[in-house]
Amino acid sequence: MSDTFVFDLPATSTAAATAASAQLDLLSLDDAGLGGFLKDIGEQPFRARQLFAWLHDKRVSSFAAMTDLSAALRTKLAERAVLLRPLVEDVRVAADGTRKYQLKTHDGHVIESVWIPHASGPSHHALCISSQVGCAMGCTFCATASLKLTRHLSAGEIIGQVYAVLDDLAANLPVDPPLPPSKMRFRYDPEPDAAADVDADDVKMGRPKRRIQNIVYMGMGEPLHNIVNVIASINLLTHDKGLGLSPRRITVSTSGVVSALGRLGQETGVHLAISLNATTNEVRKEIMPVTRRWSLEQLLEACRAFPAERRRRLTFEYVLLKDINDTDIDARRLVQLLKPFRKEEDGKVNLIPFNAHPLSPFGRPDDERVEAFRRILDKAGVACFVRTTRGLDIDAACGMLGARKLEDARKNALPII
Ligand code: SAH
Ligand code: SF4
Repeated sequence: MSDTFVFDLPATSTAAATAASAQLDLLSLDDAGLGGFLKDIGEQPFRARQLFAWLHDKRVSSFAAMTDLSAALRTKLAERAVLLRPLVEDVRVAADGTRKYQLKTHDGHVIESVWIPHASGPSHHALCISSQVGCAMGCTFCATASLKLTRHLSAGEIIGQVYAVLDDLAANLPVDPPLPPSKMRFRYDPEPDAAADVDADDVKMGRPKRRIQNIVYMGMGEPLHNIVNVIASINLLTHDKGLGLSPRRITVSTSGVVSALGRLGQETGVHLAISLNATTNEVRKEIMPVTRRWSLEQLLEACRAFPAERRRRLTFEYVLLKDINDTDIDARRLVQLLKPFRKEEDGKVNLIPFNAHPLSPFGRPDDERVEAFRRILDKAGVACFVRTTRGLDIDAACGMLGARKLEDARKNALPII
């Protein structure tokens, strides 16, 4: 592989004009952006508040639904702007109640989001969202990698997944599914205090209890490769005139795009998950080409520079690949690597036994190996969880998004090791 890495791609921008026309993608704009747009079309900027509420609080998907705007203004908006909300194309429901959504973007690309009921406790549901169409990072164990990168998602398309899922749940799932058996629960535990605060905020603001308590940027794509739009989407999700989610309920997962970590830390209040997945640069370079650009040491150094109060909630994801990174020696090296974090009681490790699929040659270690690995971390005082897999029967689990390719490969009936 050459030294010019895949993510030397054009920088993303919040400029939301669609390529096909001069129409503006309103869902990607914050209140200042909406004010500027209204001014440009000869309207009073104060209408921005009204427009923002229609888009992000009432979450309508057409201008016609904005009933307290004059008919003339609605027509003008429809001429000059667009609402590019991805549309739900297909929903598959797993035995444990997990729902995998296939959504179509306005230009025909398929992206996926996964709703995980009771993810972090009874009635605490999580939504896993995508940040790109495909992914450029090329991790050899991940199904999404095989799609390569088609394009970044706009901020409106990122939050549009959340709105589309909320609408679907309201229309099609009036009652939460039953709690899955405890051994099947997703181990992505939120901060219990934050959960209580946010619920109290909802009551105060007269909001009904939401169907999504946590949002994880762990779907298709590398969020930090699309940092501008990801930050804009976080600002919209946390805006108090919109969903008003606490940033503490949002986690961004990265394969290690070190150059964007500082911005995420400084410009947002979200939590960070690092997909570490190896304990030597040699192995990590093989399975995660991003390591050719930033070494393990550089990545961990950048994590140490993350704002202190959130560093305490840092998560290291570690996908266990049979005979590649799952030995006792790896476990002990992991303990050493994470020592600087342990001293301050920062961070925890989520062990994710590999979800096997036909697009990758790797195997899943057996339960005894996983347990032996976990025990070494545990004994050394590293907080560590084995992440149970949700939605495996519908290919909704970690690293299995990218349905079309996966389905094609399954049709060819390659055996899963
Ligand atoms: N691009 C980001 C977020 C999406 S991937 C990132 O890499 O962090 C979300 C998680 O799924 C990552 O921790 C990744 O290591 C993990 N993953 C990818 N493929 C997997 C697979 N087949 N089985 C288990 N976990 C996988
Ligand atoms: Fe992209 Fe994350 Fe998959 Fe790597 S693991 S290819 S960064 S989605």
